[in-house]
Amino acid sequence: MNNFERIIKKISGSWLYCSNIKVLQVNIGLKCNNQCSHCHLMASPTRKEMMSWEIMKKVIDIADVIKPSIVDITGGSPELNPDLKIFIENLKDENHQVQIRTNLNILCDPSMGELPKFFLDNGVKLVGSLPCYLKENVKLQRGLQSFEKSIEALQMLNDIGYGIKPNLELNLVHNPIGFNLPPEQTLLEEEYRQELEERYGVKLTGLLTITNMPIGRFLLQLEGANQRQKYMNLLKNSFNPRTIDGLMCRHQLCVDWDGRLFDCDFNLALGLTVNHGAPAHINDFDVDVLSKRRVVTGDHCFGCTAGHGSSCGGSLV
Ligand code: SF4
Ligand code: SF4
Repeated sequence: MNNFERIIKKISGSWLYCSNIKVLQVNIGLKCNNQCSHCHLMASPTRKEMMSWEIMKKVIDIADVIKPSIVDITGGSPELNPDLKIFIENLKDENHQVQIRTNLNILCDPSMGELPKFFLDNGVKLVGSLPCYLKENVKLQRGLQSFEKSIEALQMLNDIGYGIKPNLELNLVHNPIGFNLPPEQTLLEEEYRQELEERYGVKLTGLLTITNMPIGRFLLQLEGANQRQKYMNLLKNSFNPRTIDGLMCRHQLCVDWDGRLFDCDFNLALGLTVNHGAPAHINDFDVDVLSKRRVVTGDHCFGCTAGHGSSCGGSLV
């Protein structure tokens, strides 16, 4: 039993279990046009891992069984998978609501063509990462030019109705630049709205704050600055029991590019497949077992329970 499990067991009287699968998250590849300093997946332009159409067809099959409220497509840059469009079209044909996690700046690449219009035509919800509304801070995490391109992409998406029409959701994602927890989500959302509107005329549906997890490239950053222990102490000392019910592993299943199954995107980054008797590959999918599986946890889980809590859907309390 690890420290995280010990605390969960003490508070709730049992291990951490999945209670239902509302979100089916699909990582369709680790290739990304960026190489951000905080990326827990270590995505970059040189990564080759990419979900095949064969695995995508299996994802569509399990989505038909799970009937999730959303199929959340992520990467890397999901836009770089050549089968993205056919995947979305097939999911839509089966009446699944689709969401894409985009880093925004990739949408300005000429090779993306009419992709935003394709998203619009298929009613795809968008979650765009924009770590800060200040150019200098984004440059630190993402490198030169990414901020300008992200703003250009946001303006283009606003022009076709994203972030403005109620059915065209455009939520942004904030994660801290330094070794801190994110600020309170609703307060920061107001700041984002005001600053992005005043500076660039950009509108958004909402803001999701996500805590940097002590894994992947962010862990390397912590270690390089000799801050690992201090950051882990911050996460552990900020443990908030009210976050337990909403932990995303309790309400989702993640499929990696090669069909392996995970409790969440962070376990996916660590290669910790589902376990405790649950099938760990899409070929052996069993909805009854996976819906009630015991979650695989570790010290990194304190990143989800710190402060207001954190998940791919933003803060938890
Ligand atoms: S954080 Fe997002 S945009 Fe940055 S390298 Fe990772 S996947 Fe790409
Ligand atoms: S890291 Fe994953 S498994 Fe751990 S608490 Fe967070 S969502 Fe659950």
